[in-house]
Amino acid sequence: MSGAPEIKGRRPGAPEVKGWCPGAYAPMQSNDGLLMRAKIVGSRIAAAQIEALAEIASACGNGLIDLSQRAQLQLRGVSEATLGDALQRLDAAGLLAPDADAERVTNIVAAPLAGLGVGAFDANALAAELAQGLQADASLRALPPKFLFAIDDGGPPPLDDVEADIRIEAAQGDRVAVSLAGGDDRAAVLDPAEAVPAALSLARAFVGLRDGAFELRRMRRLVARLGVDAVMNKAEIIAEAYVRPRQAAPAAFLGAVGTSVCYAGVAAPFGRWTAAELLRLAALAREHGSSELRLTPWRAFLIPTETREAAQRIVAEAAARGLIVSSDDPRLAVVACPGAPECPQAQGETRAHLARLAPLAQKLAGTDGVGLHLSGCAKGCARPKSAPVTLIASNGLFDLVENGGAGDAAHLKGLTIDALESALAARTKEKLCPTP
Ligand code: SF4
Repeated sequence: MSGAPEIKGRRPGAPEVKGWCPGAYAPMQSNDGLLMRAKIVGSRIAAAQIEALAEIASACGNGLIDLSQRAQLQLRGVSEATLGDALQRLDAAGLLAPDADAERVTNIVAAPLAGLGVGAFDANALAAELAQGLQADASLRALPPKFLFAIDDGGPPPLDDVEADIRIEAAQGDRVAVSLAGGDDRAAVLDPAEAVPAALSLARAFVGLRDGAFELRRMRRLVARLGVDAVMNKAEIIAEAYVRPRQAAPAAFLGAVGTSVCYAGVAAPFGRWTAAELLRLAALAREHGSSELRLTPWRAFLIPTETREAAQRIVAEAAARGLIVSSDDPRLAVVACPGAPECPQAQGETRAHLARLAPLAQKLAGTDGVGLHLSGCAKGCARPKSAPVTLIASNGLFDLVENGGAGDAAHLKGLTIDALESALAARTKEKLCPTP
């Protein structure tokens, strides 16, 4: 059930590269039903909208909701029979784009705490302006469906690890930098009011220079082929040498955080929430004086609170429910796609091995806290970049790649889960006791 184009020329047996994410107008078929993603512009979502989503998930889906790496919420297990009802309910909750074209091109990740006084500008206001510009310009309907914008106001937690095609971020003084993936040592440095028009011009330049080539569907690839200045020149924007103010993974943002601006950071393993968990999270926000929650691209919610004590109370209840409330939680060291049985392309289970492998993964963790990527097939949806150890399901067994990604050559092949555990344990010892 989708109008997504079929990708020609695929090797037999190779994972299918879809090049798009599910939407509400374009749900994606999975083995547990249709995936249907709400459209949320910016990082703010009302507690009432969370409650509406939880109710839609129960009434029209299988009661499960994913918080994606694009800070979007996705219903699982929707059926053809309930699809129309789900669309109507999403619309009533203000979680539906105006039409399918608008839904496809509006892909924006904004600073999680936008507008709460920790950033140099209101990233959510810029996100709304950008969404309006994207939806109003017919020429931008040719943007590839995964083309992503990030708007970072310079406040915590940073969005530096978000792989955006076009990035708007706070620069020195009161200026704003607009940069391109693959070329962030050069940027247009502008007044804040000029940032969104510049980003839209760069998106148009991308569409023109790419000329529909599938292999150039992300800015990084276009910049690698033509260079940053070719895209900037096409957009009639002057780029200058630029040093990004920070390039770090987000610091600890789970648990009770903050002094002047306080919040409770709560995550679920792999961003998979039940409707009941979301209902309780929204209720906790309300009970502690907040009518809204914040979405992050790290699959966690931040709940703004008036005091740190209120945040601590939310965190205590979330922890009692088995949710993740600490950046030291070993479950965060594992990245995994849904795998079998949910994904039709999967060659084995992935997330089912979380409890067993998480402690080992934590010992292997690199600078971004991830030690293990479990992938249901060689496509590696959950993590395009490398990991200390990547395990790829293959006919019910696993292949192991060290310091690489799911598409790289395996160092070990055909391992059972028992053999894997031994192999990982040996690697953690090597890491902890390096050869002198
Ligand atoms: S990587 Fe995982 S989610 Fe992606 S296609 Fe393969 S099995 Fe499916």
